[in-house]
Amino acid sequence: MNDISGYQLRTAWIYFLRSLRLRCPTCGITPIFPSLKKTRSLRDWFTPLDGCHRCGYPYEREPGYFLLATWAGSYGMGSLIGLILYFTIDLKFHPPIFYLLLMVLIPVIAANIILARHAKAFFIAFDHFFDPHEKERGENDDDRDQGGQKKPAPIAPSKPRQKVEFLSKT
Ligand SMILES: [Zn+2]
Repeated sequence: MNDISGYQLRTAWIYFLRSLRLRCPTCGITPIFPSLKKTRSLRDWFTPLDGCHRCGYPYEREPGYFLLATWAGSYGMGSLIGLILYFTIDLKFHPPIFYLLLMVLIPVIAANIILARHAKAFFIAFDHFFDPHEKERGENDDDRDQGGQKKPAPIAPSKPRQKVEFLSKT
């Protein structure tokens, strides 16, 4: 294995670990999602922040960016768990259909909610690894001069909820 592929492998592993911790793929410090204290609804739970205030990495590149992550990661994993549970419980215990559905659907819905954040974080890391989009030098130099928090590069139109946060700092 040559140096380049070893380096890439290490980078991919670092990005993967950062996605497991739901952190920015570039700096590995800033969370991708609002903290649990600030999560008041399911929408807060599912919606990533606009971007990293440390390195300026925008989490959502464009509208519909997370569609694949939601379908493949969250729904796909949820369905797989559902199928495994269904066949395991049905073959082993053969309960009445109502209880069987309860025993399958409740864990599937819970898994979908729990896995949604990791699916998106993993997708961000995956995308950043194969198609990095670092902010170009000189693009937002005036933000750096202010010494405070930088707003993410304006690639995707930001959602109003977080936009207020970032705009108020500049
Ligand atoms: Zn960052």
